[in-house]
Amino acid sequence: MDILLASGNAHKRSEFQRMLPEHRILLPQEKGVAFSCEEDGATFIENSMIKAMALYKATDGGIPVIADDSGLCVGALDGGPGIHTARYGMVPGGAELSSEERNALLLKNMASYTNEKERKAHFVCALTLIISPWRQFVFQEEVDGHIAFSPYGKGGFGYDPVFVIDSLGQSMAAVSDDMKDRYSHRGRACRHLAALLKEIKR
Ligand code: IMP
Repeated sequence: MDILLASGNAHKRSEFQRMLPEHRILLPQEKGVAFSCEEDGATFIENSMIKAMALYKATDGGIPVIADDSGLCVGALDGGPGIHTARYGMVPGGAELSSEERNALLLKNMASYTNEKERKAHFVCALTLIISPWRQFVFQEEVDGHIAFSPYGKGGFGYDPVFVIDSLGQSMAAVSDDMKDRYSHRGRACRHLAALLKEIKR
């Protein structure tokens, strides 16, 4: 089935498309839908629901919608940047930093934590599916890891070069797409979604 992803992020779309090969994952602009919304929820789940509902309404409910709200929670930063992960380091009224700038800032802010144990973090993914106003589903998953001492790896996007998955001992940018999907926050959440979509098809 065609599923609209409430995002402009082509990387997220590729990941969902890899993990949901039986479906066609489309970005709003590909369906000619203008989509933007204020992510003013207090949690990842609230923000994923806000994004999904905004897009669902923009399409007049004609097509199933998914929305993913993800973020990095670092113990040494009191769980931050958390729901503010995309806006990390942004000055009020200014533009979002590039991924490289954000990663450099994160490493700078973690510089005094020289022991791996002090650099513990997890990546969270909240995923909402709306099929109709009466059929809405939310999943949240996470992956444990720590912040690398310097960025490495050429794959992935965003914080992947600085987030090391504990069970792999490699940054999310240094592992294959398949490995990232198997272990990542999004991969875990997406498996729940895939199972549900299979169930719905029967
Ligand atoms: P959002 O979920 O689109 O709001 O993304 C939050 C922030 O986390 C953005 O800066 C993304 O680039 C980053 N991000 C989301 N998912 C991932 C991921 O799988 N790897 C690395 N960074 C990510």
